[in-house]
Amino acid sequence: MTSVFIISAPSGSGKSTLVNRLMAEVRNLTFSVSYTTRQPRGNEVDGEAYHFIDRAEFEARRDRNEFLEWAEVFGNLYGTHQDALQIAENKGLDLVLDIDVQGAAQLRERIPAAVTIFILAPSREKLEQRLRMRSQDSDEVIRRRLADAAREIQDYSLYDYVLVNEDLDEAAETLKSVVRAERIRRIKVEEKIKPILATFHQVEKKQ
Ligand code: ADP
Ligand code: 5GP
Repeated sequence: MTSVFIISAPSGSGKSTLVNRLMAEVRNLTFSVSYTTRQPRGNEVDGEAYHFIDRAEFEARRDRNEFLEWAEVFGNLYGTHQDALQIAENKGLDLVLDIDVQGAAQLRERIPAAVTIFILAPSREKLEQRLRMRSQDSDEVIRRRLADAAREIQDYSLYDYVLVNEDLDEAAETLKSVVRAERIRRIKVEEKIKPILATFHQVEKKQ
């Protein structure tokens, strides 16, 4: 049974850094590569962080119901393809999605068992420092992202887990723990424990 992990955070909270650590350090996870109309940044490669497409193609795919969810964020369209879940299920992997609060709300309806995690910077001041440190955005974009963050953080209460990203190593460990703990929910391990239980029953019968 594929577990679905939805991770959201205001820009600059450290979500990409933490998700990269999670993907590198926990086995049997696959990352959902979204479709977007935004331009590639820096050294982003098509097909890795995103599939970069134009608005007309996005709208055509959306109208064919190819997306499990989609939303407009910072003036660009973003969507999760249906195939992401299908491929994870076929391969027996758990799926990690990095999507915004609007997309998370749509998926919560479609996949009620999805595990949702909200990542927060420890304060507005630290968030601003991190946005500036990343030095990818202009002053105006940073100002807009801080204003958006003030709005987005209100949605933390809709998530199962809220992770404050103060110390990076500690936050990365906590995120991994959430994934590992969710994987041993009884309902998810039932098939795996049947053969273990059977070994006890065989011995009981012999005695
Ligand atoms: P997001 O994906 O949420 O927009 P990033 O992962 O790009 O954020 O992180 C924003 C910046 O903050 C990056 O320069 C990153 O290295 C830095 N960063 C992330 N987590 C921490 C942390 N716990 N302490 C200090 N800096 C951090
Ligand atoms: P960025 O352009 O900075 O990579 O991402 C901007 C925002 O879009 C982030 O909050 C990210 O989580 C969100 N996002 C990325 N892919 C998707 C997606 O497929 N669906 C939705 N709803 N949001 C997405």
